[in-house]
Amino acid sequence: MTPKVTILGCGHSAGTPMIGNYWGACDPEEPKNRRTRSSIIVQSENTNLLIDTGPDLREQINRTDINRIDAVLYTHAHSDHISGIDELRVFRMKDRRETNIYGNAETINELEERYSYLFTTKHEGIYPKVLNSHIIKEHEFYSPYKIEDIDVVPYEQEHGTCKSMGYRFGDVAYSTDFLDLGQQALETLSGVKIWIADGCGYKMERNMVHATLDKLYQLNQVVQADKVYVSHLSQMMDYQTLKDELPDGFEPAYDGLVVNN
Ligand SMILES: [Zn+2]
Repeated sequence: MTPKVTILGCGHSAGTPMIGNYWGACDPEEPKNRRTRSSIIVQSENTNLLIDTGPDLREQINRTDINRIDAVLYTHAHSDHISGIDELRVFRMKDRRETNIYGNAETINELEERYSYLFTTKHEGIYPKVLNSHIIKEHEFYSPYKIEDIDVVPYEQEHGTCKSMGYRFGDVAYSTDFLDLGQQALETLSGVKIWIADGCGYKMERNMVHATLDKLYQLNQVVQADKVYVSHLSQMMDYQTLKDELPDGFEPAYDGLVVNN
C-alpha cells in the first residue's frame, strides 16, 4: 500500500521569499509562493517517516500537526536538506528515545562528522545520544528496503557535485536535487503514478546541479508518471506562471500539498 505523502517544503536552498523578503519573480500575494526548504513526510498507519531535515523543520512539523517522527531518511548532505537536524533533539527529550536515521554512506558519514554531538552521549548523560545511523549500502539500492512498516526503494541520482538518493514509496516517488538519472533509476521509477521531481533548473539552457523542465519532460517519457509535481522551486518560479507554462500532467508543488489524497 502506498503511504500518504505530504510536501512539507518545496523551496530551493534559500526558500521563498529569500532572506530580506526578496520574492524575485514570485507574486507575494500568492500563498503558494511561500516556500520552505525541500522536505516531505511519508505516513503509514503506524509510521511517520521524514525525508530530510532542512532549516525550516520546526515550522514544517508544527504547521502539519505532527507530534512524532519515527525515522528520518536523507537524500544527500547539502545544508538545505540537513541543517535542521538539531531539532530532532526535541523528540529525544519528549519521547525519551533515539531516532533512527537512514541514508547512503556519503551522507551518513558527513552527518556524523558535522553533527558528532548528536551521535554520542556527552557530559555523563546531561546531553544524551539523539540519533542512531543506518547506512543504505550500494547493494541495497534499487530493491525494496524496509523502514518500520514502510517499503521504500532507494535509487541513486546524479546531482552534479555529488550523488543524491531518490526514493520510491509504492505509487509515489521523490526525486529532489538531481541533474540526471541513470538507467537503473529510471527502471525503479517505471510505473510510478506520482513523481515529485526537482525542476529548479527551470528554463535555463543548463544548470550544473538541478534538472531543467526540458529534462523532466524527457525523463517522464520513460517514467510515464500520470502526474509530475515540479519541486525544489526557486524565487524565479512563480506558482501561477509556472502552472500556465507546464504541459498536461505536470504541476508546480506547494508547501502542504498531499500528493495522494
Ligand atoms: Zn542539493
